[in-house]
Amino acid sequence: MDEFERAKRDDHAKRKPRPCGFTLHVAKGCSGGCLYCYVDSPPKPASLSPKALVYALTLNPYFEPGKSFVAVGSVCEPLDYPDYTSKLLEELLKLGNPIQISTKEVNYDLVGILRKVDTLVSMCIALDDICRKFEPKRPPPSERLEFCKEVGGGVFLRPILPMIGIEEYKKSIDRIAEFTDRLILGNLRLTKTVKKKLGISSLPKKYYERKKILEEYAKKEYGLTVFRSACCSNALKHSVPCWNECWKKGFCVRCKNECFRISSSL
Ligand code: SF4
Ligand code: SF4
Repeated sequence: MDEFERAKRDDHAKRKPRPCGFTLHVAKGCSGGCLYCYVDSPPKPASLSPKALVYALTLNPYFEPGKSFVAVGSVCEPLDYPDYTSKLLEELLKLGNPIQISTKEVNYDLVGILRKVDTLVSMCIALDDICRKFEPKRPPPSERLEFCKEVGGGVFLRPILPMIGIEEYKKSIDRIAEFTDRLILGNLRLTKTVKKKLGISSLPKKYYERKKILEEYAKKEYGLTVFRSACCSNALKHSVPCWNECWKKGFCVRCKNECFRISSSL
């Protein structure tokens, strides 16, 4: 079957968006072996070319060219496929939509293209020795943070792990503040697989309080913008109102994007 015919049948041409936007899958599955990760299947790269994948997206009846938010990097590590991801971003940029990519990898060949989108550099903790236990195959956070600065990105500190102490997380924020001015704190998704891998059955009662403590710490000590939702980072990067309308849903941290003002003046 012709590739563009296959694109018409691809799920990117049909799926409803998630709150962060339309997720594009460079691959499904990953062999990174991160201990807290719910992805447990071997990697299967996308069967469509970058051009055909973007074509599929444009066929999606929910997708608005130039407006809908796009997110690359879920259910896989996109920089495990640097050529594909770079071409995909090039194709996507032609549509003019706000694009976000999330990665745990480092690749200086992609700096130019990653600067054009909202790049989130992800890690569960910014301390190399602790991180190694949970993300054994990815570069140390110290290298990721240098890369984050180079691409003008934000840090996605996720998932906040219940077995790591709050003081370690504060030390992480001390490090992160040297490299970026924006941060997102992510929750642990405790699926059956993750419970087994981490050896825990539930989240501690005070788990969600940790995020509040860390949010306060990052703001007070370093003046970081701590988003409650990844879409806000994409909105700020592209200076457009948050597509998920976070300011109407209690997720707004009143960042300098001030999209609540833009929206009320429309
Ligand atoms: S790199 Fe990402 S997708 Fe791969 S195992 Fe780690 S967290 Fe999961
Ligand atoms: S102003 Fe509020 S809703 Fe808009 S991007 Fe910033 S945090 Fe999000």
